[in-house]
Amino acid sequence: MTIRVLLSEQQIRERIQVMGKQIREDLGPDSKPLFVGVLQGAAVFLTDLIRCIDGELDYDFVSISSYGHSTKSSGVVRIMKDLDQNVVGRDVVVVEDIVDTGLTLKFLLDNLRLHNAKSYRIATLLDKPARRQIDVKVDYVGFDIPDEFVIGYGLDYAGKYRNLPYIGVFEGDPE
Ligand code: 5GP
Repeated sequence: MTIRVLLSEQQIRERIQVMGKQIREDLGPDSKPLFVGVLQGAAVFLTDLIRCIDGELDYDFVSISSYGHSTKSSGVVRIMKDLDQNVVGRDVVVVEDIVDTGLTLKFLLDNLRLHNAKSYRIATLLDKPARRQIDVKVDYVGFDIPDEFVIGYGLDYAGKYRNLPYIGVFEGDPE
């Protein structure tokens, strides 16, 4: 089994710089947004993204049950860790690693809406539009990618490969 590089470290870095600038421009200079990362996959993206955003901000994480060891969505989602920060009246930016079917994001947004934020935006590093089952509006997309299972830069297969600095695809059987 080998891993093919789909998006290099440099491609990711350059794209995130553009995204960070855009997000601050849209929020305005006076907003102190709350970035909400979805563990564990989005942790790497979130920590790089916030370093490309000027001005004051906070960040927090939520944890949602994931696919387990499968490479396909189970559609089963539940909150394992909720927000620690107060969301009321804040500009919230939800940060995802990848939007696939959209089920996870829909579930998360339905929960967040109960918290009375001032505004919600969604930023994802990767988007697989071909796989969408639920129509969720994503405000910032790093890269549209084909329907392939990707790993690296926070994304795992069976708990492995999250620490790869690039986004890769398996060539051959991952086992
Ligand atoms: P959705 O609920 O949109 O189908 O899936 C979102 C979650 O599924 C992501 O946050 C991620 O954890 C997982 N996921 C979807 N596609 C992939 C993929 O290609 N690779 C990995 N490692 N995880 C994925």
